[in-house]
Amino acid sequence: MKTSIATVSVPGTLREKLDAIAAAGFDGVEIFEQDFIADAASPRDVGAMIRDQGLEITLFQPFRDFEGLPPGPLRRRAFDRARRKFDLMGELGTDLVLVCSSVHPEALGGIDRAADDFAELGALAATHGIRVGYEALAWGRHVNDHRDAWEIVRRADHANIGLILDSFHTLGRGLDPDSIRRIPGDRIFFVQLADAPAIPMDLLYWSRHFRCMPGEGDLDVTAFTRAVMAAGYRGPVSLEVFNDQFRGGLPGPVARDGFRSLVALMDDVRRAEPGCATIMPDIPARSAVQGVGFLEFTSRGDEARDLGALLASLGFAAVARHRTKALALWQQGAIRILINEEPGDFAGSVYHARGTGICDIGLEVASARDTVARAQALGAQPFVQPLSPGQVDIPAIRGLGGSALHFLDSAQPDVWDAEFTPEPPATTTGARLTRIDHFAQTMTYGEMLSWSLFYTSLFTMAKSPMVDVTDPDGLVRSQALAGDGLRITLNGAETHRTFAGAFLADSLGAPVQHVAFATDDILATAAMLAARGFAFLPMTDNYYADLMSRFDLAPDLVAALRAHHILYDRDAGGEFFQIYSQPFAGGMFFEIVERRGDYRGYGAPNAPFRIAAQKRLMRGAAIPRE
Ligand code: MG
Ligand code: MG
Repeated sequence: MKTSIATVSVPGTLREKLDAIAAAGFDGVEIFEQDFIADAASPRDVGAMIRDQGLEITLFQPFRDFEGLPPGPLRRRAFDRARRKFDLMGELGTDLVLVCSSVHPEALGGIDRAADDFAELGALAATHGIRVGYEALAWGRHVNDHRDAWEIVRRADHANIGLILDSFHTLGRGLDPDSIRRIPGDRIFFVQLADAPAIPMDLLYWSRHFRCMPGEGDLDVTAFTRAVMAAGYRGPVSLEVFNDQFRGGLPGPVARDGFRSLVALMDDVRRAEPGCATIMPDIPARSAVQGVGFLEFTSRGDEARDLGALLASLGFAAVARHRTKALALWQQGAIRILINEEPGDFAGSVYHARGTGICDIGLEVASARDTVARAQALGAQPFVQPLSPGQVDIPAIRGLGGSALHFLDSAQPDVWDAEFTPEPPATTTGARLTRIDHFAQTMTYGEMLSWSLFYTSLFTMAKSPMVDVTDPDGLVRSQALAGDGLRITLNGAETHRTFAGAFLADSLGAPVQHVAFATDDILATAAMLAARGFAFLPMTDNYYADLMSRFDLAPDLVAALRAHHILYDRDAGGEFFQIYSQPFAGGMFFEIVERRGDYRGYGAPNAPFRIAAQKRLMRGAAIPRE
């Protein structure tokens, strides 16, 4: 199937849009008339410019307020306008135009009246070699349902008149997409796709400002597209997305997100809908992440020593060193943390850009090769570094913003054996930390959709509803993604004055700001940490007084929590306990969590108190030690 995107979906000038759309991998573009009018080139030159990019013009749109006008000058003028647009389309080099249902105040209703108008328009279009597709706008004056639009097309009964379907107009009005299955596929001339978040508001406003890429919102675009394919449609699938955030973004990333969303959607449709196996090339299915294999810090000198001391206070032991690189492996339970002080390679360049921080994440999957193949089909760049002798070649990709993601599987040689020399056994008994519960990436609010699409299109992960976290200096939005062996929280900062925003301002991309380790016994862990001199993030007495009033906790439990600065939360599924480290490396921190029962959250109600405590410390108050 051909992939397409409307020029209006991508920011920039027409030329910037086309560059980005072609580079992202699309086959074609819908020309949104305004984008064309704003360009200085002639219609022929614009058409040539598009074809020079290897793109085809899949559709010209929109032609408005055509049908249902009373006989007389208004109706005559509508046909004159159509004739001029058909001539223009001939010069541009495209044969399909979108007519959206009328919102004209003088338009009259009646299926047959509209059908007669389209029969006449079909005859005119045929003389120009043009096809006309009719789309029901969700807010059309008389036609706002694809079933009515189809009835008009059916009664017009002209080979040059067909139907255009738009997932937003069908799903946004809550219409059953399965009604599309009964429409003959060859009468559907074009299909536009968009998603949207479930926010109740005026349909027109919602459509013009909040559409997003399939998979980024809450509409069931997959069910819609399955119905379209089941009807037998095999023409282009095209994104038509109006979004304020995207308009303010950069052309390249928006176009790449669009391509990623479209490939993931069509792969889902191909797998789910019988008879659709060949609508697009076979790509590997989403990978289930089994766990976090390693987190790699880039660091240097004193900062690296401080990080090692912090890990030691958390019960980690330095268990091995890389045979050829300045790379130390710290371990506890199933958690592996690397501290990379190698100057020359990727870690070194990340260190130069932003100092100590996480530069690489290793994820355990069933097949690393399949994961990379899917990521590349979705538009990700492979990540390659020259291998030194004896180094294991671990498949990797670039995340958004240039970060690195490596994929480990059981078919690979054991990299820890192959590349590392064990250190003498440590005396530490650890602190009962077992594995990585989650890590949190901080980004601008505008990047959150990109990152959630990146993860959910590549891995089997589900999104939780977005939650707002109050920082004393602004709002941070938090979106959790969870799969079996991987939980990630994405935090979108709107101002640099928030704790997350200040951390982000000093970094590139969407850095990991905190890592949460799991324990099975938070009180035992707390006691071990205290004995090791771990510096807890101090919580206020007010916090514990409030805990007593919010939850019916035994006084001695609250006393134990307070003694070790342990935070508490509870939901219908179970209980949650948290310990935070003090901030390091410009605002990073570690967290230790215990989940009891089926608690699925991340302690969001505690976040404002955690942030306030971190800010008190970052402003230079005395750092108490346990
Ligand atoms: Mg549309
Ligand atoms: Mg957390």
